[in-house]
Amino acid sequence: MASYNLDSVNSKDSYAAQIHLNGDLFENLIWWALQSLPDEILVGMDIDSNSPHLLEVENLFRSNQHVDGLFQSQGYQIKEAHIVNRGNSFSVHHLPEDWTDDMFSSNRGSRAGRFTHWLHTHPNAPAIPSEADADAAQETQGVDMILGLRFSPEGPMPWFNDVEGTRRRFGEEATQVKSTTSKRRKFGARQNLSVIGIAPSGHKIHEIQLIAFHKTGLGVNVVLVDSEGLPYGWDNLNKIS
Ligand SMILES: [Zn+2]
Repeated sequence: MASYNLDSVNSKDSYAAQIHLNGDLFENLIWWALQSLPDEILVGMDIDSNSPHLLEVENLFRSNQHVDGLFQSQGYQIKEAHIVNRGNSFSVHHLPEDWTDDMFSSNRGSRAGRFTHWLHTHPNAPAIPSEADADAAQETQGVDMILGLRFSPEGPMPWFNDVEGTRRRFGEEATQVKSTTSKRRKFGARQNLSVIGIAPSGHKIHEIQLIAFHKTGLGVNVVLVDSEGLPYGWDNLNKIS
C-alpha cells in the first residue's frame, strides 16, 4: 500500500480528484475478491461522515487539475463496504431496482439508500474500465473503482491484456511482471510469473491492480489510509515532496 501511495503522489497531476480508502477495508475487498474467484463481485461502498480527508494529506496529493465538488461525498474517507452481487462481467452489474435498499437497510442505519461508491473486480483482466463499466458508472453518485486480479490457473478466462489505459499495480513484484500485449501463448507454456499470494480457492495471485474513475471519464486518485487517516508510507511521502 505504501508503494501504491508513492505512485499516487508521483502521478497526482493526472487526476481530477482524490479519494481516501481505509486500508483495512481494502484488505477485506481483496479477500472477498479472492474468495469469489473466478467470479466477479460488485461491492457497494459508503463514506464515514466523521472521517473527512486529513487536510495535510489532501494537500500532498492535490492535483494541479483538481476539480471541487466532482462527485458526491468528495473529501470523505471510504470506510464501509458490502458485497451486493456476484457473477460474470455481464450479469454482475445488473441489479433489480431497490433490491439493495431492502437487503442492507437493517445494517446500514438511517442511510439505507443507494451506495455512494461502487467497486467491481476484474478476474484476469487489468483494472481498466470497459464500455459496459462506463455505462454502469452513469448511475453512480460517487466514484467507481475496479480491482483487477491476475491469477492462475486461468481456467476458461486467460489473462486479457489487450486494453488501452493507465495501470496501477500493487507491489514491486507485480511491477516487474512484463506485459506482453497481444502475444498468443502456447498452451502449457511456462510464463514465469511471480506469485504474490495464494487465494482461498487455491489460485496463485500474480498481480493486483486498483483504479477509480468518475462517470465523466476523469480519473480519481486512490490514497490508502490507516485508521488515523494517514497514508501508508506517510513519513517517506513527506520526505520526497
Ligand atoms: Zn468491469
